[in-house]
Amino acid sequence: MNAIILLGPPGAGKGTLAESLKDKTDYLHVSTGDMLRAAIHARTPVGLRAKGFMDKGELVPDGVILEIIRERIDGEAPAARFLFDGFPRTLEQAEGLDRLLAEIGGSLSHVINMAVPVSTLVERLSGRRTCKTCGAVYHVVNVPPKAAGICDHDGAALYQRPDDSEETVLNRLAVYERQTAPLIEYYRKHGLLRDVDASVDPATTCASALEILNA
Ligand code: AMP
Ligand code: ZN
Repeated sequence: MNAIILLGPPGAGKGTLAESLKDKTDYLHVSTGDMLRAAIHARTPVGLRAKGFMDKGELVPDGVILEIIRERIDGEAPAARFLFDGFPRTLEQAEGLDRLLAEIGGSLSHVINMAVPVSTLVERLSGRRTCKTCGAVYHVVNVPPKAAGICDHDGAALYQRPDDSEETVLNRLAVYERQTAPLIEYYRKHGLLRDVDASVDPATTCASALEILNA
């Protein structure tokens, strides 16, 4: 089992890049955020535990996250390649992933660090709209759908994630700085980190990422 990680603050475009890479590579997209939102929607025990943390922009406990990752990986073939989006988010999760990989004989090949100035992040997150059905991500100004409020792919309604409200966005950015940014050094030390300028348009960011993955 081989895996890559998309690392970056909320609004860096991890989900958007993951969507493009999914079409151009054979990586299986694993977004812990998407999995948690699905769990909340389905009212599972994990969803019930996660909701309070997510609403405030806080991180869901490491044990919960490592458990859903383990379950997700378990079902796949040994040759599967995973693209982790939004995981790991703490040093504990990174170490948990290292242990899990050691257990199953898997390895990490790249950690793509998506750098974006904070002012851009706030602007991106507050204009973000998501499709309820397929998860496609839009922006009211930068990436508008063809018809306002409607997904181009399936005609479903777009919504604003509750945690994209301005107050929660600021907390999520602070949480990122405090709990997730230390992973940059962690993976740099392990020789896995690759920096990508994610302040530019999605196609250019995707091209840089592909260059790294194909190198
Ligand atoms: P995302 O969709 O990646 O922005 O995640 C949305 C929210 O889900 C985050 O603000 C956290 O509350 C929670 N979450 C997602 N992934 C993780 C993770 N790896 N560790 C802890 N919390 C997470
Ligand atoms: Zn859609």
